Amino acid sequence: MPKLKPNKNKLYGLALLSSVLCIVALFYSGVLRNDAQQKVQPKAEVSEAAKGTEFKEVAAAPEAPKLTEAEEMAQKVKGLLILSDEENKKISELVKQILDLKNNSSLGKDERNKSLHPLNVKLDKLLNRYTLEKLKGTTSDFADVKATMKKYKGILSSDTENFIATYEITDGGEIEKVKNRRENVTAELEERINEVWDDIKKLLPTSALKKITYFEPYQGRSGAFLDYDRNGDTLLGINVDRDLERLPCILYHEYGHLISLHPSQRDGEWGGYEASYEQEQFKENSYMKKFYDQFYKYTYDDQNADKKGYLFYLRHRNEFVSIYAATNIYDDFAESFTCFMIDEGGENGREKIKFFEQFPELVELRDQIRALLQKNNLHPKRFLI
Ligand SMILES: [Zn+2]
Repeated sequence: MPKLKPNKNKLYGLALLSSVLCIVALFYSGVLRNDAQQKVQPKAEVSEAAKGTEFKEVAAAPEAPKLTEAEEMAQKVKGLLILSDEENKKISELVKQILDLKNNSSLGKDERNKSLHPLNVKLDKLLNRYTLEKLKGTTSDFADVKATMKKYKGILSSDTENFIATYEITDGGEIEKVKNRRENVTAELEERINEVWDDIKKLLPTSALKKITYFEPYQGRSGAFLDYDRNGDTLLGINVDRDLERLPCILYHEYGHLISLHPSQRDGEWGGYEASYEQEQFKENSYMKKFYDQFYKYTYDDQNADKKGYLFYLRHRNEFVSIYAATNIYDDFAESFTCFMIDEGGENGREKIKFFEQFPELVELRDQIRALLQKNNLHPKRFLI
């Protein structure tokens, strides 16, 4: 008999659940789809050294001077911005103050964070000013990016799911109903749920399906969510009203959350998609910690200081596979993971897609998924938004 677990996730806190909604629903609807944004992108200037012939470069390749930590951070936070000496000096001064504070071991964590916050806000304001001055004119989709990011940020905590039923996943990767979540579950709805699960089985191997504890089909605005309850059980919610053509993107996105936020990856409780990334919540060898160290070590605090996010995205757009990826570090991971699985990334965010190649178990999963797709003659398209 399947165990009956009464709404543990709800007990865990409505705030947490509402904060973890993935707004990949927008991928389904296509409302926010905007391919045009992929076309215009400010290009960094090619340095004189890089202009040489291939032969010359190989022959003369001078060793790149080692950057100090402050120089490295200044370079990272600027992203695509090309600044004057005077502007660079202002950034460097602020970066130096931030690093001095960060590396000051005599301060407690709270005291350090309290002092760091105004400096991060100041740096973000300065970078935003330069972004407006320098990138607005070169970016034709500026207004679209701004509006899209605003919608994402607004919708994250505003959806409510109308749950239909809770299912447990069997060892064979089938679903078995645990309980209804509303009084009347029609035969048509049951049929639709089975249809969605049949499609899911064509997209993920049984070994991967077994990592999901509960399947929670629902109706509502968002497309899907992935959450963990207090027992560490995995909850996958899928909106069954949506177009199944977009299910692959939705599912791989959620599976990206599943592997990176799994309790085995964490040391502590995780605060939700909108909460700040906390180093100590993730284990040293976790995917998320490595993702942070490689891509966010020097830019996370700036991104976090700017709740609107679109100006941060604009100066770093070459680093993200989609605008949605720039909403928070967890969705960046999930979006990049989706591109890794279906090989449908654009020019941007290639380093993040490549990131997953260092993990043999994820390469194996990708190969299994691609074999499954081939067997079922499926060619999922990536819906970049
Ligand atoms: Zn997500």
